[in-house]
Amino acid sequence: MTATRWLAEYAWLPERAEPTPDVLIETADGRITGVTPLAGDDAPAAGVEVMADAVRLPGLTLPGLANAHSHAFHRALRGRTHGGRGDFWTWRDRMYAVATRLDPDSYLALARAVYAEMALAGITCVGEFHYLHHNPDGTPYADPNAMGEALVEAAAHAGIRITLLDTCYLTATVDGQPLAGPQRRFGDGDALRWAQRADAFTPTDDHARVGAAIHSVRAVPAGQLATVVGWADRRGAPLHVHLSEQPAENDACRAAYGRTPARLLADHGALGPGTTAVHATHLTGSDLTLLGDSRTGVCLCPTTERDLADGIGPARRMADVGLPLSLGSDSHAVIDLFEEARAVELDERLRTRRRGHFSPAALRDAATVDGHAALGWRDAGRLAVGARADLVTVRLDSPRTAGVPPVGVWFAAGAADVTHVVVDGRTVVRDGRHLTVDVPAELASAIAEVNR
Ligand SMILES: [Zn+2]
Repeated sequence: MTATRWLAEYAWLPERAEPTPDVLIETADGRITGVTPLAGDDAPAAGVEVMADAVRLPGLTLPGLANAHSHAFHRALRGRTHGGRGDFWTWRDRMYAVATRLDPDSYLALARAVYAEMALAGITCVGEFHYLHHNPDGTPYADPNAMGEALVEAAAHAGIRITLLDTCYLTATVDGQPLAGPQRRFGDGDALRWAQRADAFTPTDDHARVGAAIHSVRAVPAGQLATVVGWADRRGAPLHVHLSEQPAENDACRAAYGRTPARLLADHGALGPGTTAVHATHLTGSDLTLLGDSRTGVCLCPTTERDLADGIGPARRMADVGLPLSLGSDSHAVIDLFEEARAVELDERLRTRRRGHFSPAALRDAATVDGHAALGWRDAGRLAVGARADLVTVRLDSPRTAGVPPVGVWFAAGAADVTHVVVDGRTVVRDGRHLTVDVPAELASAIAEVNR
């Protein structure tokens, strides 16, 4: 049994509106075994003997952050598409060019560096929405899950957990145009063959689990939705779906099916507490009611939504109808869940011209416990006895955070302020450095390779 004692200058405990000073956190075999505030009214009357070898964590210690929506290969586009004109659809053409160049070896190298960048940012678990399944011409690899396995291995190298959301992607448009060109490698032919391939994908590593994804109503015909939903139900696996990211998707769905994408998904059993709708930017009032009544979660990706000129989703109204919110860095224009979290509040301010929609504790929950739950890790994202031993320490003495009260980190800190990251009891980042991956060097070489 490998037990460790950590002394957090501040720790943000569950149900607390603000961080607590001087907290002793004990971990053993990947779990939190003790959480004891040493000062103030919460301290035990008899006092606690703190061993001299306790690891001190200066700053604020948070639970592990969950990045609930990622396409790892989009990281290769950072800084290469932001100056141009156009919209989501012109950006997508650039993204497809990168998608065409990857194979299992180059994707392992790229994703390992991207996931290590996530670890440096305090992310202990990623939800990888994965659809680069096959060879560029659409033929399967000798191992049809070679690309998914590369991603699972990449997360292991980076020291973080992964939920591989195996994505069903069958058609190019809502009205059923076949996949063509760069999209051919996304497709399995039909949902049954997608399910057979997904069934054969059974990573045994403790850091990985498999979920399902419906790429969008563009990519999975209505008649095949139930197959994907049934697969996720049988396995008790999370189901994710891109929903109403663009008005054009809503228009095409209404034209083809006479209803909104949310209504279409509801009519085929795809909404529910195991489902996370990604973006959900352009919802009608009845769409919101459908999502709320079914307890569907929503993953917001504000830095991507702003980068791709998608629009601003109705985050406060979502929370008001009871939707759990999670956060994703999606296209990785930046990888910084502090930025995603504050954007949820700040975008709402821009829209309403009023302040104060989400409390700091609500932003913490979206970035931690609710994100982990959306990825199927319901025992993570809380500094509580029995939870996974994920600790993320943010310094409070950087140029950005000096003088900031600990409760203010969501509005002041950035990924660069994360100094110490523990995942399942193992230290992955110490003093702001990844212990096994040279992140800038590996990012540079992996991205040069796919942009050659
Ligand atoms: Zn996405």
